[in-house]
Amino acid sequence: MKLLVTGGAGYVGSVCAARLVEAGHEVVVLDNLSTGHADAVPEGARLVSAAIDDVIEDVLAEGYDGVLHFAAKSLVGESQQDPAKYWQGNVVTSLRLLEAMRRHRTPRLVFSSTAATYGEPEVVPIPETAPTRPTNTYGATKLAIDHAITGYAGAHGIAAVSLRYFNVAGAYGRFGERHTTETHLIPLVLQVALGTRADVKIFGDDWPTDDGTCVRDYIHVVDLADAHALALANAVAGEHRIYNLGNGFGFSVRQVVDACRAVTGHPIPAEVAPRRDGDPATLVASSDKARAELGWTPKRVDLDGIVRDAWEFTQSRREA
Ligand code: UDP
Repeated sequence: MKLLVTGGAGYVGSVCAARLVEAGHEVVVLDNLSTGHADAVPEGARLVSAAIDDVIEDVLAEGYDGVLHFAAKSLVGESQQDPAKYWQGNVVTSLRLLEAMRRHRTPRLVFSSTAATYGEPEVVPIPETAPTRPTNTYGATKLAIDHAITGYAGAHGIAAVSLRYFNVAGAYGRFGERHTTETHLIPLVLQVALGTRADVKIFGDDWPTDDGTCVRDYIHVVDLADAHALALANAVAGEHRIYNLGNGFGFSVRQVVDACRAVTGHPIPAEVAPRRDGDPATLVASSDKARAELGWTPKRVDLDGIVRDAWEFTQSRREA
């Protein structure tokens, strides 16, 4: 297939682009490089370094079999402080993409959605039928795009799939997490092991969980990429299907820090700090629907293995 990967110079997008190239697809990456990196675009993929808003009409006019839409603003804290950036950058831009897909009859769409569309869960593990009540602007914009996709798929025959990621982690060789503003737990903890950060703050140890720290579902980025390929292959014209993607196991912040200590051999000083605004205590996905309908099975569910891949990537960046 000829595929357009928006945001393919970012973390998840670059891993997916690399896997799609390896699977034999023709891949074009569209990325404005605002947070992505040109050298994260895999060999064999063509990079169009431009904003979706400026070029999407011309790009899709070339004729594509599908779009994988990763490009987005994705910092929860920033989305609270500057909502316009998120409504404009995520929603308005995605509407432009959908319009261009409609006009040029692009048949397939896989959208990078998020567990943040659910907000504070009533039931854990979270099924796709859970109420969607995002607690921040980031989640609200992703949910709004999901709604727009439902309408476009039904009205214009697009075969669409939204994948709601839980906590993406790990790396795929030279493709990994390289955020200028890093807020995610595993890369921050590994920065301590690397020596570029003094310690890690644990945001609260009085949560209603086994060890008092927040529990999250860490999914390996390669398992996530595999789900995208399956979503693309199984998408049905005129339908918008939504799948949660997690490995189904919850790990606490303390368990993550311990895994990082075990993998790196570094003591990693950790200090308890106040709770972070807007954090739910526990977020774990039910991925039963993705397993049943896409035939997806996460293969890299071991936390030490996830951390090991991230650590190898982190060390390779230091050497680079
Ligand atoms: N967390 C933490 N210290 C940090 C960063 C994150 O204790 O420096 C916690 C955070 O409160 C959450 C978990 O680690 O419970 C995962 O946070 P992350 O930002 O990686 O992902 P999120 O779950 O917010 O998408």
